Amino acid sequence: MRLPILLDVDGVLADFSTHLLQTVGSRLTAADVTQWDIFALLDPEGLRAQAIEVLKDPAWWEQMPTMPGVSALIDTLLAEGAEVVCVTSPWLSCVGWESARREWIKRVWREAGATTDQVPETIVAYAKYYVRGCVLIDDKPEHVARWARVNEGDGLGLIFDAPYNRDFDETTVNARRVHGWSEATIARVIARHNREASR
Ligand SMILES: [Mg+2]
Repeated sequence: MRLPILLDVDGVLADFSTHLLQTVGSRLTAADVTQWDIFALLDPEGLRAQAIEVLKDPAWWEQMPTMPGVSALIDTLLAEGAEVVCVTSPWLSCVGWESARREWIKRVWREAGATTDQVPETIVAYAKYYVRGCVLIDDKPEHVARWARVNEGDGLGLIFDAPYNRDFDETTVNARRVHGWSEATIARVIARHNREASR
């Protein structure tokens, strides 16, 4: 069996930071988000409470922009007939979050030309390490570290580089770092997937 490519959504496919900063009218940009707790960064501008409110709105989650390079990624995944699963952690304070997230994934894939059958399966989980795959691409160090440890042998963890995860040393957990959806990153993910197929 070819193990699927596991894709995190926020910070990997969807530009959570930019969307939130722009919605609340912050002067910060995604490059300024150098720590995981984005709310703490909004404190000096008095925007924390507003940000927490925004995140309760399913429509906000559905309107999230994609990260650069995502359409090229999806084009390649479709052309390769890749097995893909989105593995995404829930935002519990937003009632209707899961439907909004599934709609977002469907819309982004359909806009890239996918048929309904080609839209990836979505698994909502904090414990991503339960999900088997040839690779997990995620921006959260804890997810990559734990997944890489549990799936050692079958799977390679890839930390999706961001200003807030640069203090994570991925080499200590048999993971690697990728910098955006460049051609090189996409090729690497596909090569890993196809290597599984040829086993
Ligand atoms: Mg994420």
